[in-house]
Amino acid sequence: MVSIAVAQPGMLEIRTEEASLHPGEGEVLVRVRRAGICGSDMHILHGSNPFARYPRVIGHEFAGHVVETGKGVEGLVAGDAVVADPVLACGHCYPCRIGRPNVCSNLEVLGVHRDGGFRDHVVLPASNCVKVPDSLPIEIAALAEPFAVAANVLSRTGISAEDTVLIYGAGTVGLTALQVARLHGARCIISDVDESRLERARGFGAAVTINPRETDLPQAVRDENEGLGPSLVIDGAGIPALLEEACRVASPAGRIGLLGFSPGPCNISQQEIVKKELTIVGSRLNRRFIPQVVEWLAEGKLQPAGMITQTVPAREAQAAFDLIENDPASTIKVQLDFA
Ligand SMILES: [Zn+2]
Ligand SMILES: [Zn+2]
Repeated sequence: MVSIAVAQPGMLEIRTEEASLHPGEGEVLVRVRRAGICGSDMHILHGSNPFARYPRVIGHEFAGHVVETGKGVEGLVAGDAVVADPVLACGHCYPCRIGRPNVCSNLEVLGVHRDGGFRDHVVLPASNCVKVPDSLPIEIAALAEPFAVAANVLSRTGISAEDTVLIYGAGTVGLTALQVARLHGARCIISDVDESRLERARGFGAAVTINPRETDLPQAVRDENEGLGPSLVIDGAGIPALLEEACRVASPAGRIGLLGFSPGPCNISQQEIVKKELTIVGSRLNRRFIPQVVEWLAEGKLQPAGMITQTVPAREAQAAFDLIENDPASTIKVQLDFA
């Protein structure tokens, strides 16, 4: 078995070991085929994810095929294609009881709190495996989790065809949010300092692209939405200072969705929030949106193919991590191929 682990911050290990795994009751053994590398995997590698414990097999965006099902598993059989939902929740605490398992007070995330999917075989709770139609290529299925993260923030903020959406950052978060917002019929503006990323964003349906190094962003969005500014702002860049700007440029009754994990504070004006009755929400992981995303993908409502910029054999994972480190603008989603 090949697995990609972070032994300790800064130390990526590609391990080969003998393992004979069998699913217990309510569990499924999955042969992983494709797995995407996420910004949060990079944070675990750098030691900047406060939740990670080491050593850790990383990876939370992965899809493969069911090999064996444990006792009591219904609805899945050997050979089924599945994508994992990395959110493991207790089901009993307050957030779980009100349908918010992604902020469970006992939350465990595959690849963060528990060993994840960067290995060719993994045992998962059956309830964390979402069946994928055979018509959907497995590399596309492995994109369901990042799209579910976008679906989550747009559900938290609300999204409709009435919205003019400003998205900060044209990386994976920004481009998935762009596609899900477009699917709801919204007009989308996207901002990034990298021209090649903006070009990609135009291909995914951004009506306006802004490079804030060249254009004054507040000025550029002022005339949007009948002169009121964007009704919805998504921070896909995770930069605290952007929240200040988001509050300034958002329209009255605007909503702001945050996904970043920076502990740094920022200066936001109480007056701005109250005067315009802004709604500011956090969005973490996803609240069981993967079945919905799989449906969208199967119906051809998203443009996933252009999201995968590089595919690297799992044994060469170090090269994939080096690429993301050294030339991030050339990548959106780098996938590991477990063959
Ligand atoms: Zn991720
Ligand atoms: Zn819970």
